[in-house]
Amino acid sequence: MRDSFADRFRQRCRVIARAPGRVNLIGEHTDYNDGFVLPIATEQETWVAAAPRDDQTVRVYSTELDDQQTWPIDDWQAADFPHWTAYVAGVAALLRLRGTRLGGFDLLIRSDVPPGGGLSSSAALEIATALALTDIADISLEPNELIDLCRKAEHDYAGVPCGLMDQSVSLAARSGTAFLLDCRSREIRYIPCDLGDHVFVIIDTGVRHELAGGEYARRQQECRQAVDYFRRLDPQVRALRDVSFDAVRSHIKQMDPLPASRAKHVTSENERTLAAAEALRAGDLSRFGRLMTESHRSLRDDYQVSCRELDQIVRIVTAVEGVRGARMTGGGFGGCVVALTRETSVPWIEHAIVHQYQPPPNRPAKLLRTHPGRGASIEFSQST
Ligand code: ADP
Ligand code: MG
Repeated sequence: MRDSFADRFRQRCRVIARAPGRVNLIGEHTDYNDGFVLPIATEQETWVAAAPRDDQTVRVYSTELDDQQTWPIDDWQAADFPHWTAYVAGVAALLRLRGTRLGGFDLLIRSDVPPGGGLSSSAALEIATALALTDIADISLEPNELIDLCRKAEHDYAGVPCGLMDQSVSLAARSGTAFLLDCRSREIRYIPCDLGDHVFVIIDTGVRHELAGGEYARRQQECRQAVDYFRRLDPQVRALRDVSFDAVRSHIKQMDPLPASRAKHVTSENERTLAAAEALRAGDLSRFGRLMTESHRSLRDDYQVSCRELDQIVRIVTAVEGVRGARMTGGGFGGCVVALTRETSVPWIEHAIVHQYQPPPNRPAKLLRTHPGRGASIEFSQST
């Protein structure tokens, strides 16, 4: 990083920061219902090297895209620059908006988090950038402020209304643990995750179905209808987080069918996520895997956010010996499957995918493996 930076920008870098991608193991579509999610940081990471400049110019180079862009720090416009610059420009602009003294800078990006591959390369880039720029500016933000700033950069500059999870886990994950996040209180519990001879495998379907946007808005609306139903019975209910799976089951006949099945997923998924955290803590990987596969069924049948390709990969992978469980991860309608498997089964999974999965033309499924990685850090700094 140091040599590439010096070659390109003709000055020495002042700071090197890194931030991991993430994959959600269980707890899907629970975040906006004030519930629980259980992601890990990936071993795939984004690295950023940076140094301040004497003027107000920003120069940013992405190694993966082999693209360099330059703008005056106060004059970045989304329309004038490639979209990937929004993540860096957004973090820099928001730091200045909160009063941080930050002038021009040079910044180099290098990453093995596949972009658009469901591992949140966007959050990794924001967090690594924010750590590097705050170091240059000689300040250090509280974790929650840093998370919120990066999330706002993603909302307001990149135009993606993401939840709380991605930036939280990229910043605050700890190696060898899963990250149980309470999306209501923001409380984090680190769940020891000793995989032994097992590993998590992430398989990208290669598809992203367009209907996702409208369908997500509709699911949120249906969840609100379910909340309204239960609030009439108990005024304390603020979100589906406050409703038990048993309560949904005993009212299912009186409710409208769609809000009922959405509530069935969310309430059972919250309970599964807590049970999965307990299984992991107890080292019961078989139980953890079964809960993953149950989660997939619930997302497919009750929440209806899966698709043919996701279902096909889950079916193929769970039939391989040594696989403990598999499910879609992320919003759905395409994206990735995550599976827990014995390491020795990984070649068999690859073989089964190649021979049985029917990917879209020219977009073969891609497979990555990871153990629970560590959260973001500054690896080198010469700031005063
Ligand atoms: P995900 O976060 O799931 O990977 P997103 O669409 O949210 O997918 O973010 C991917 C985008 O983030 C890329 O299209 C690109 O604009 C930006 N990005 C991620 N990694 C890099 C990188 N190494 N260099 C430049 N831009 C990157
Ligand atoms: Mg993203």
